[in-house]
Amino acid sequence: MRWSGQATATVDDSALPGLARLSNLVASVQTPEFAGVTFHEILAKSALNRVPGGDSVLPFGWTINPYRGCSHACVYCFARPTHEYLDLDGGDDFDRQIVVKVNVAEVLARELARPSWHRDPVTLGTNTDPYQRAEGRYRLMPGIISALAESGTPFSILTKGTLLRRDLPLLVEAAQHVPVDIALSIAVHDDELQQSLEPGTPTTAARLATVQAVTEAGLDCTVFMMPVLPHLTDSTEHLRRAFEAVRASGATRLLYSALHLKPGVKEWFLAWLEREHPELEASYRGLYGQGAYAPTGYRKWLAARVRPLLAEYGLETGRADPATGSMHSRALDDVAAARDVLGLGPSAVLAAGGGTAVTGPAGPSLIAAERPAGARASHPRLF
Ligand code: SF4
Repeated sequence: MRWSGQATATVDDSALPGLARLSNLVASVQTPEFAGVTFHEILAKSALNRVPGGDSVLPFGWTINPYRGCSHACVYCFARPTHEYLDLDGGDDFDRQIVVKVNVAEVLARELARPSWHRDPVTLGTNTDPYQRAEGRYRLMPGIISALAESGTPFSILTKGTLLRRDLPLLVEAAQHVPVDIALSIAVHDDELQQSLEPGTPTTAARLATVQAVTEAGLDCTVFMMPVLPHLTDSTEHLRRAFEAVRASGATRLLYSALHLKPGVKEWFLAWLEREHPELEASYRGLYGQGAYAPTGYRKWLAARVRPLLAEYGLETGRADPATGSMHSRALDDVAAARDVLGLGPSAVLAAGGGTAVTGPAGPSLIAAERPAGARASHPRLF
């Protein structure tokens, strides 16, 4: 296999018990250029994950997660609890024990070739980041992009990874054939805070430069300003700095949402807060003590602060897709319209693979005032 030759050390003994139970574990690998990180290479049985879409136009969305765990290590990452399914914890293990589906492109190509696949839009990046550092080593995305484009499947990518620039020529080519939507997640415009909150990510400046590269390549690029953190990134000064930078990058639109902290993430985040900003602990316990979401009052307050900026900076045209949690793909409208014309049912049912699709918490995450212009009266699932 092409990837086995890349391993500089094979350390099966280090496999944790949950991973060791996997029949499809190929190897657990550590390399000098990824100090402290172990890659658990598995042969995936499926690539496409079905996501229940609630009241979406389509009954569900589809995602692909080439990696489990994420070395970007954002303390607020909503995906942390998904790591517990293999006896890994949602804290350090999530950041350092990365499961790699080394055959994901090949499996995907097979799934996309099934007659039952109706080319519903597919989202990457709503669970873990497809352009995290591991992608520099494993190069799974080019095969995924090619498989999607060649099968006529529209797709979107959400990432914090500047490595996306490596694949820009391929993405531009793919966009000649299918709708391709790209978004960069950029929420913190204070370098010290950004490195503390998102220690494994490229800098804000590097991500803004990536937005610029995407738009200069002729593709639209959305910026996800998520999460907005109470007392830390919600000041008028910080928000205006963010909007200035995003507009200067050439981004097409901006989506935002307040922090939410579901169980399994809340503990990790509050431990960080206790270390870094103990003065805010009481306030956060007040805001998030009763649930995962900031209270409606706070979110209304934030919406009143952000919405005028969206209009002022001309960045309000984006809308979130309820099914996938990513930006609403232009392709969704095309698919829905085509189905209407053809008298087809709402969507195809590809025998769902074994993947666990977790793109957001159950229930609504946005109050009406937070919803991007044009969003349906529904319950988008966002970070
Ligand atoms: S980049 Fe995304 S998936 Fe990765 S740790 Fe940060 S929030 Fe989680």
